[in-house]
Amino acid sequence: MKNIINGKWVDASDKSVMEIINPFTGKKIDTVPNMTKKDVNRAVEYAKSAQKSWKNVPIHQKVKILQKFLNIVDENKNDLAKTLSSETGKPITQAYAEIANIRIGFEAFMEKSKHIYGNVIPAGTEAGQENTLQFTVREPLGVMVAIIPFNFPCDLFDQKVAPAILAGNTIIVKPPHQNPLTLIKLTSMLHDAGLPKGVVQVLTGDGVKTGAPLSQHPDVHGITFTGSTAVGRSIYTNGASHLAHVALELGGNDAFIVLKDADLDLAVEEMVFGRMYNTGQVCCASKRFIVEKSVLNEFETKCVERLKKLVVGNPADKKTDIGALITLSACQKAQKQIENVVNQGGRIILGGKASGAVLEPTIITDIPKSADVAFDDEIFAPVVSIIPCENEEEAIEIANQSNYGLSGCVFTRDMNKAFKICSRLECGGTVINGSSFHRSFEMPFGGYKFSGIGTEGVMSTFDEVTRSKTITLKNVLK
Ligand code: NAD
Repeated sequence: MKNIINGKWVDASDKSVMEIINPFTGKKIDTVPNMTKKDVNRAVEYAKSAQKSWKNVPIHQKVKILQKFLNIVDENKNDLAKTLSSETGKPITQAYAEIANIRIGFEAFMEKSKHIYGNVIPAGTEAGQENTLQFTVREPLGVMVAIIPFNFPCDLFDQKVAPAILAGNTIIVKPPHQNPLTLIKLTSMLHDAGLPKGVVQVLTGDGVKTGAPLSQHPDVHGITFTGSTAVGRSIYTNGASHLAHVALELGGNDAFIVLKDADLDLAVEEMVFGRMYNTGQVCCASKRFIVEKSVLNEFETKCVERLKKLVVGNPADKKTDIGALITLSACQKAQKQIENVVNQGGRIILGGKASGAVLEPTIITDIPKSADVAFDDEIFAPVVSIIPCENEEEAIEIANQSNYGLSGCVFTRDMNKAFKICSRLECGGTVINGSSFHRSFEMPFGGYKFSGIGTEGVMSTFDEVTRSKTITLKNVLK
């Protein structure tokens, strides 16, 4: 499948391609261009030129185009979900849910785009300003770049593309190198809906060849990135060289605290959702299960019983709960991480084996709080890592010892205790009696520490994709 630059289907200027593999079957699905710096430069030029007129298109007209786009998405939902499932290894029911989210996310940003108000500063706040009125308006950043990870490509397309273009920016989308096909199709549908050429362009390629030049380009004024902390750091450095506005949504190693007075059945159900969804490849999945010793055995037994019931296998089958990991090498990496946890004192009580890119749901318990996984070793796979603790105080200490700080959660029947713990967790989002895997479109989602800079969501993204201008009416009241 080709790319879209300035509304036209194109190959890479050096004709190079990358193979897209179905991780469950191991078979090639398609090829996509591996775009060069020259292609990046061309796309940025078109984005600059398109932005000049796009920023002046009235919001109600922009919304109309996007309404048409959503209807096209609905008409093609079967093809989109199948493409997403096959290129990602995602269970098909979860692929359908992600396609359904496109309407929810876009509509929320479409509604909000009509309410991006400025402010009026009253006259006379300082001596000499008695007759002067000042008001502020929000203006687009200009040309933006969205660099998207493999795990929820469509959700992150919604979170980044919708607000950027509604605010009058143009945007170049760099899809994940492993599974870019669904995002190319969505970009094509935006054009079918009447979006002018150059407003959204899609450039596929590997991170270094395509992603890095996009973040280094001096005419890119906004970069919105979701992905690993290592790549986020290099993008931040690249953006700093030309003072681009950079928003980073990065990795996590979220704590899931189970206190002795918790509803254990509820905690186990939330463990299934919060750790197994998307085959464990979720930034804010609960990844460190910090459990008070007095309820440890009961929690372990219930977790094993529950995870045994999950259906593991072909992502195309509607009954499948656990599909393939994104690549064979991602599965091999997870197995090495499991080995490391065991070498550092952990004990496997379920799973641990893989077939191709499919890893069995795995539970490792008795993990000492000094193990790598209890700090920053993020396992992106269906692995429940249980770290026993003596009490509430030690649970908080373990939760906060990670350099990551995306989300966290606590299970207890004591609401005062729950609030106190949430206020002490060093992370951007907290959940009481639910998994940390909680992201609504409305909430400002983002991490502390190594988990990112800025937040994303209907409440906050328009602040990230616009800048404030003050217009002064000097002596207008004289
Ligand atoms: P990744 O960082 O490897 O890749 C993300 C994107 O960056 C891909 O499009 C990739 O091609 C591109 N890229 C790679 N190297 C680059 C470079 N040098 N310059 C520019 N672009 C480059 O991440 P991934 O493996 O796709 O995703 C998994 C990670 O993302 C996990 O750590 C996960 O926690 C995190 N994540 C965070 C959030 C969040 O909202 N905080 C959401 C989803 C995933």
